Amino acid sequence: MHFAPDTDEALAFAVALANTVAGASRSGVDELPDPASLTALLDAYSYTGRFDRDEQELAAVRDTRDLLRSIFSMDRDSAVAAVNGMLQDAKALPQLVRHGAYDWHLHATEPQAPLDERVRAEIGLALVDVLRSDEQGRMRLCAAPDCDGVFVDLSRNGSKRFCSVRCGNRMNMVAFRSRGGGDGAGAGGVGAGRAGGDGAGAGGVGVDGAGAGGVGVDGVGAGRASGDGAGADGAGAGRAGVDRKSVAHAQTPGRQ
Ligand SMILES: [Zn+2]
Ligand SMILES: [Zn+2]
Repeated sequence: MHFAPDTDEALAFAVALANTVAGASRSGVDELPDPASLTALLDAYSYTGRFDRDEQELAAVRDTRDLLRSIFSMDRDSAVAAVNGMLQDAKALPQLVRHGAYDWHLHATEPQAPLDERVRAEIGLALVDVLRSDEQGRMRLCAAPDCDGVFVDLSRNGSKRFCSVRCGNRMNMVAFRSRGGGDGAGAGGVGAGRAGGDGAGAGGVGVDGAGAGGVGVDGVGAGRASGDGAGADGAGAGRAGVDRKSVAHAQTPGRQ
């Protein structure tokens, strides 16, 4: 599912910002330690307008990050109140603008407004789309117990459970090991059925196309390790079957 292009982009930025905290980042440390790191993040999302690039601006954006993260755990009405507050505080006035390579899209603040205010207004507008479409259920916390990541699931079937392929692979491996290295008999009908359905699992073209295929975390079972897999949702036994079949098909010579 998709919202307007600028909403999708704002949501992607919101998630990237929220996941810079130590508990969610790839590096395992806070990835917004200084103004330069903030600049890098903003550049990656083609942010325009005023940048002070100082500690005060950084602190304000970090506060915005906390606010944003909290919205992912709110019920719908509380999220609405938070978003209305963000828009009100920023005195948001939605206007269509066109600049650079960007076709008409929404801005809600002046380009010279403080960065944190612009971030809240832009993300606030995107969340307006999510909330009034009653799609808040797609704003989720990563299901990996050791991860503070958040994500917005825009996949068609809305079944993503992890913030990243990294978490999906890790949790898949944990589930795999807890099943005794995939020696899970009892896979039975479910396993076989899904193996077929998932197209022989050749390296995790799976659920959300992450395709990373678990790249040999340690070989086995990695096949279906992509984004949103296995295990923890009770389909465990069945998926053990899938994994084994996948491996059988996906195996490269000399591996095993
Ligand atoms: Zn713009
Ligand atoms: Zn995660």
